[in-house]
Amino acid sequence: MALILDGASIRDQILKECAPRVAALAASHRAPGLAVILAGDNDASARYVRSKVKACHALGMRSETLTPPNTVSTEELLEMVESLNRRPEIDGVLVQMPLPPQVDSKRVLLAVAPEKDVDGLHPLNLGKLVANTPGPRPCTPAGIMELLKRYQIRISGARAVVVGRSDLVGKPMALLLMHQNATVTICHSRTADLPGVCREADVLVAAMGRPAFVTRDFMKPGATVIDVGINRVASREEVARIFGGSPEKLAAFDRNGSVLVGDVNPVDAMECAGAYTPVPGGVGPLTIAMLMANTVEAAERRLGACCA
Ligand code: NDP
Repeated sequence: MALILDGASIRDQILKECAPRVAALAASHRAPGLAVILAGDNDASARYVRSKVKACHALGMRSETLTPPNTVSTEELLEMVESLNRRPEIDGVLVQMPLPPQVDSKRVLLAVAPEKDVDGLHPLNLGKLVANTPGPRPCTPAGIMELLKRYQIRISGARAVVVGRSDLVGKPMALLLMHQNATVTICHSRTADLPGVCREADVLVAAMGRPAFVTRDFMKPGATVIDVGINRVASREEVARIFGGSPEKLAAFDRNGSVLVGDVNPVDAMECAGAYTPVPGGVGPLTIAMLMANTVEAAERRLGACCA
């Protein structure tokens, strides 16, 4: 039976460590400030942004949310970002993805001032990640590294396999694991014999966006399995199949019309893995905690710099 890696408790630890730093900044200068741009009317994005704002307020940080309409242009978003870049009381600027299809997302992300890029997605900060020099790290993979560290899971010398090569999760995850001396393999949709490659992993990270794709066939017995995926399954038969007929999950489905499922088959992970992050409650909570940590750090760096 796998050890459950509890993301919510690690989130609480990280936020607790942020609190005195926020208080110190508020006492000596001002509370850190985060601005979020939420463009269009994507329900999931709106939910994520509400959680981010709530986390800011719980820590005593300032936040503001800009909500341009679905029809917003690239130029209008660039202006918004640039005006936030100029405002001294804003330490972090976050552009919630995905942006409406007419917008050039790469240009907008590039416009965020690197010192306010609390998502760690600006090319300059991605360069720092590659070079392993200090800078904000993308929140989800950084949160996973915190989880692994705090559960004392051995990384150095371990074989790690990351399934997914996105700029947001897969690539930074692989780099962070490599910097901690894991031997890392990155897999994607063209990888030959994916289950065989995954079975070599002491630490397996699934970040694919494919519900319950990673089964016991992909797992070395006793491996640490990190499930990044967030997928909504809206078929009762699928839910029954994935969760082995779990009455709780079927009741949740009957209440909500869908159930959240990761990229890993939860029943197989519980039986085969040594440690496992469930969905929900595993990786999800860590992302917001690391966003808060990155914002506090950006404020410390900026205020330290301006008062030196
Ligand atoms: P992307 O869609 O950007 O990337 C998915 C990656 O998975 C791609 O590299 C793709 O390969 C690979 N992939 C897809 N299907 C297969 C397959 N059958 N076999 C092998 N590889 C495959 O997704 P993201 O990285 O943005 O997100 C991944 C998942 O993590 C999603 O479910 C997302 O919702 C979730 N997520 C969760 C977060 C959290 O806080 N918990 C934060 C961010 C994301 P290829 O490149 O060849 O197409």
